[in-house]
Amino acid sequence: MHLGFIGLGNMGAPMAARLLDAGHTLTVFDTRSVALQPFTARGAVAAASAAAVASAAETVLVSLPTPAIVREVALGENGIGSGTSVRTFIDLSTTGPRIAQEIATELASRRIVAMDAPVSGGVAGAKKGTLAVMVSGPRDRHDALRPALESIGKVFYLGDKPGLGQMMKLANNLLSATAMAISCEAMVMGVKAGLDAGVMVEVINAGSGRNSATQEKFPRSILPRTFDYGFATGLMYKDVKLCLEEAEALGVPMWVASAVRQLWLLANTELGPDSDFTRIIECVERWANVQVKA
Ligand code: NAD
Repeated sequence: MHLGFIGLGNMGAPMAARLLDAGHTLTVFDTRSVALQPFTARGAVAAASAAAVASAAETVLVSLPTPAIVREVALGENGIGSGTSVRTFIDLSTTGPRIAQEIATELASRRIVAMDAPVSGGVAGAKKGTLAVMVSGPRDRHDALRPALESIGKVFYLGDKPGLGQMMKLANNLLSATAMAISCEAMVMGVKAGLDAGVMVEVINAGSGRNSATQEKFPRSILPRTFDYGFATGLMYKDVKLCLEEAEALGVPMWVASAVRQLWLLANTELGPDSDFTRIIECVERWANVQVKA
């Protein structure tokens, strides 16, 4: 299948590489020209704009940082909506249900079907093709594109209403963000009291406190102090913020999530939005004056 792919960053690059591995051909675009090079070296065609991608392929996937950027790339001047070939737009980014609905409505007026398909599983999962892919949009379009999506991960069809995939992803990332925040507090407390950080992680992972932070983020990026997990603090803060906005619009109180949001806001302000999100532990460490390391 010939596919368009826009946004070859931490997640987009390994997902696009897996589509090439699976035998698909790609037309690609990214505002950083350096990101295109590994793909043109493998036979992909580099386009000069999102519109050019959408004039070369019937199906265009995007993996972009923020809702505003996704809206611009989908609907803006020289965006996907002005392409001449595109029939299906697939958003792999985390943008929230409201943007998904807005884009679906706008693109429908140009006879383009929008699907949301946000992913979870991090850069490691993107490389291995083991992401959870949360798809919503018309069933027939899902059925037709499912084989391609299966090359990037396990596909879950959540329904035909635009935004359901995004809602699922926000619920997932709220849990991931909460696990990270609370695990940092627990680990800093233990180390301050004299426990060994490596032993603590082993015990937690053999016990009932285990979670995605203690099983993956601490061993890989925090205990060795490499802080190279591949997800930006600004993007995690964005996800928690989007989730709370949705909860509020739905009339669902979220006390714990509100506290979690404050910690991510602090990390975003103190460490900067481009910092790796595993550095959030440094905020908690500073208050306690200890370091959590192997
Ligand atoms: P990233 O910043 O590494 O990659 C984004 C890419 O988009 C970059 O290559 C950037 O140059 C490109 N880009 C930005 N503006 C553009 C434009 N106008 N036109 C074309 N290209 C443009 O971000 P990421 O970590 O790969 O995340 C992408 C999305 O996936 C985000 O919505 C994020 O929340 C979500 N996500 C990330 C992870 C992760 O672990 N990194 C996991 C799951 C979901």
